[in-house]
Amino acid sequence: MRCPYCASENTQVKDSRPTEEHTAIRRRRICPDCDGRFTTFERVQLREMMVVKRSGRKVPFERDKLYRSIEVALRKRPVENERIERLVSGLVRRLESNGEAEIPSTTIGEMVMDALRGLDPVAYVRFASVYRDFRDAADFQDVLGDIASDGSRASPSRGAGEDDDDKSGPPITRKH
Ligand SMILES: [Zn+2]
Repeated sequence: MRCPYCASENTQVKDSRPTEEHTAIRRRRICPDCDGRFTTFERVQLREMMVVKRSGRKVPFERDKLYRSIEVALRKRPVENERIERLVSGLVRRLESNGEAEIPSTTIGEMVMDALRGLDPVAYVRFASVYRDFRDAADFQDVLGDIASDGSRASPSRGAGEDDDDKSGPPITRKH
């Protein structure tokens, strides 16, 4: 490791110890050329991502957890496991390449919703209802609106016209 003060490549490790709950090694280095001291950290490159929940609590990101939440939303829907597998891998890769060590749970939720919206409308509504916790009817309308704008338009018809004739009642037969 090159000395940051004099650029000498002759630096030595004075001591090294685990730190940050054993996710990193801290090395104290010394430069014999200029007597400079500095510290380096060694970390695993395979990133450990943390999910920041709405409460502010942080939990390690788990691929299995993400997979299960999507699997539940897609239960009994015509989507193969292999497709779910690919969807989850894609999401994880995007999160990893994002470069952030801490990811808000809301970011993950939005990503999943985006993915499900294109995959299966029913799964999308299921996931959204759990994720968004539908606090009021407007939230639900928003999600349904997203789907309706994709095409199918349901207009309730009660066939009111058919009943009109009945108002005249059964024919009255007079007896004489
Ligand atoms: Zn130096």
